[in-house]
Amino acid sequence: MKAHDGMYIDGAWRPAAGTDTIEVVNPVDEQVIGRVPAGTAADVDAAVRAARAAFPAWAATPPAERAARLAALRDILVARKDEIAETVTAELGSPLPFSQAVHAGVPIAVAGSYAELAATYAFEEKVGNSTVYQEPVGVVGAITPWNYPLHQIVAKVAPALAAGCTVVLKPAEDTPLTAQLFAETVAEAGIPAGVFNLVTGLGPVAGQALAEHPDVDLVSFTGSTAVGKRIGATAGAAVKRVALELGGKSANVILPSADLAKAVGVGVANVMSNSGQTCSAWTRMLVHTAQYDEAVELAAAAAERYGDRIGPVVNAKQQSRVRSYIDKGVTEGARLVVGGPESPREQGYFVSPTVFADVTPEMTIAQEEIFGPVLSIIRYEDEADALRIANGTVYGLAGAVWAGDETEAVAFARRLDTGQVDINGGRFNPLAPFGGYKQSGVGRELGAHGLSEYLQTKSLQF
Ligand code: NAP
Ligand code: MG
Repeated sequence: MKAHDGMYIDGAWRPAAGTDTIEVVNPVDEQVIGRVPAGTAADVDAAVRAARAAFPAWAATPPAERAARLAALRDILVARKDEIAETVTAELGSPLPFSQAVHAGVPIAVAGSYAELAATYAFEEKVGNSTVYQEPVGVVGAITPWNYPLHQIVAKVAPALAAGCTVVLKPAEDTPLTAQLFAETVAEAGIPAGVFNLVTGLGPVAGQALAEHPDVDLVSFTGSTAVGKRIGATAGAAVKRVALELGGKSANVILPSADLAKAVGVGVANVMSNSGQTCSAWTRMLVHTAQYDEAVELAAAAAERYGDRIGPVVNAKQQSRVRSYIDKGVTEGARLVVGGPESPREQGYFVSPTVFADVTPEMTIAQEEIFGPVLSIIRYEDEADALRIANGTVYGLAGAVWAGDETEAVAFARRLDTGQVDINGGRFNPLAPFGGYKQSGVGRELGAHGLSEYLQTKSLQF
């Protein structure tokens, strides 16, 4: 797709207030593939005004009509699926089949789910002598990262629109073309002017201006815990609603009764897919001491098979960040089994699929989010030990439990301090609430839980 040189505000592409631009780089070959405007506080202000002006009419639009617009949006995403996948591949670097199946496929499912929920959700209920209304919160400031560029946009915009909110989006600087393409689909879907607005730009400039804007009622942020803490503090000071979808260091707990080969194979694929740039990735694999050596061998073989099929990480900064974590793992005494810090290619921001064994729970690579294709395999002695290790980080976003029978796996999963657990390889469900315990965040996305984030309640007594 061709980059727009303006902002999508109040239903049209409008010139940016300033003249600065952001270069979009293809991480596979490091070539500049486009330029978008770097928004300023003035652009954010114009977008927030448009969203505010559009709010009363959109909030008053019957849910069935909002649902019809979301269904139209879903249909346009379907029609432009190939273009979406190609755009994500160009600016994120993910292999095309993955972009088609996941980066384009998941947002289509999520948009469809909110078309359905908008039509069926109980926005009004009777409680004793009261009627309780679920009303839209207002103007939403959405700030999204680059790792699942369209999914993270749709996971905020679709429920916000279903609820009757209006939105200003500040997407990641690394993946603005996908965001511009999304703005085109919103326009095509007949969503009224001002209901959705896009300001491309840098986090500390446009992102911060959006988070601090006094006329934004709710800030929904996905990204690093460091930035999330600042956004939470800013929102708190203004008594503003906030949703934070932050980092993770999730555990893949393989109990002794599990199908070891399957658990390890799926676990390695989970970490390596999207080049390890998944907040909910199971980056710590926990294996009983009796099965440890076999698991390490299986994981090494699985990671090696990834070899050339893995895409790059998003940019040079992430590449050096991931490589310095690998160095740190070696320095702290973990055993490098596959991969390593050297760049596997001369061009592009590639990192080799990397597996560490003999990782102890306190090591940096077992505590901090690396956001690259790096797996740490940790040994446990018994179930209590496994639980202590699994819960022993500041994060609590996701996880997996594998056991011979579901009851055993569920009993363990219920004791994990985490927001989502896949049982014996359970499939992704776009209706299931997604979000973190502890420092992995505040609030939930997806499904009815995700919709309720954008609603506030009013009760009338009779
Ligand atoms: P980030 O800086 O937190 O970026 C997330 C979004 O916030 C981007 O749109 C970013 O803009 C914006 N932003 C940055 N500083 C801001 C500020 N002061 N005020 C308002 N918005 C701001 O994350 P990143 O730099 O892309 O990646 C750094 C690390 O974050 C990764 O290595 C990873 O550990 C973690 N991460 C987690 C997730 C997740 O899904 N949980 C996703 C991405 C990254 P810019 O694009 O201009 O920076
Ligand atoms: Mg950043």
